Amino acid sequence: MRIVSIPMRTRFRGITVREAALLPGAAGWGEWSPFLEYPPEVAEPWLRCAEEAAAGLWPAPVRDRVPVNVTVPAVGPERAHEIVLAGGCRTAKVKVAEPGQGLADEEARLEAVRDALDALGPGGRIRVDANGGWSVAEAVAAIGRLDRAAGGLEYVEQPVASVEDLALVRRRTSVPIAADESIRRAEDPYRVRELDAADIAVLKVQPLGGVRACLEIAERIGLPVVVSSALETSVGIAAGVALAAALPELPHACGLATVQLLTGDVVDASLLPVDGALPVVRPRIAQARLDALAAAPERVAHWESRLAEVRAVRAVRKDQRP
Ligand SMILES: [Mg+2]
Repeated sequence: MRIVSIPMRTRFRGITVREAALLPGAAGWGEWSPFLEYPPEVAEPWLRCAEEAAAGLWPAPVRDRVPVNVTVPAVGPERAHEIVLAGGCRTAKVKVAEPGQGLADEEARLEAVRDALDALGPGGRIRVDANGGWSVAEAVAAIGRLDRAAGGLEYVEQPVASVEDLALVRRRTSVPIAADESIRRAEDPYRVRELDAADIAVLKVQPLGGVRACLEIAERIGLPVVVSSALETSVGIAAGVALAAALPELPHACGLATVQLLTGDVVDASLLPVDGALPVVRPRIAQARLDALAAAPERVAHWESRLAEVRAVRAVRKDQRP
């Protein structure tokens, strides 16, 4: 196992440095990068994803490119316009419900994003992500206004925090609803389905236990899937790409263009979008980059003990099986 420590270009999810464990296997390397605060029980499915990758157990792809979205943070309209033009993607995901900003700021941002997408060509799509930041009443009021400002929204991602509230909002708006934060554990997608809480499921391969596990979830919930990243290096992103490439239908762009948020990578040919899409390839790890990004010895020790804890959790679970 190798541990890398990579500074982020900008603070994201409260993180300024991303740590990841790379695990070698018969078919190549897998990435295990549960966020640092996650206990062993939560980090266990993340390890399954890495082991699946290292063992070469990904399903065969049905497409050779995966369209991705450009992400627009809660910036002013001029900056939002620049980001969309520079990204070259046909879908933009725009952050909304940011504390300290009003709907007028968000409307201006969305108008600028629409303008930039139109400048790139016809058929651009805009989705917004509220990260659970609205109440039900706020969401219903905001979605109508933002839908008009955007010239039509593809969907709104996690407008409210709880899955029950997501279901309420969905009944009061015609804009499709996507569940993101409501899906973190393997059982969550079924709860979303049961409550009819979303039109679209955002799936991340590491927290849900790997590519094949996600493929099975997608089949069982019967909702369109948007594959999203957990801020991985290109080795981890390749697992998300493998899922997106294997899904029978892929009607929406994926949230996998996040390698550029990191200042470094563990491969030479990073998984970055070309003409708004990622190629369906598995980049090879570069030993020199592993060495250059190697974490400090005390961080390596931390990850080694973390791995031992996750394996202990597994051993207990196996014992408990009837
Ligand atoms: Mg989201």
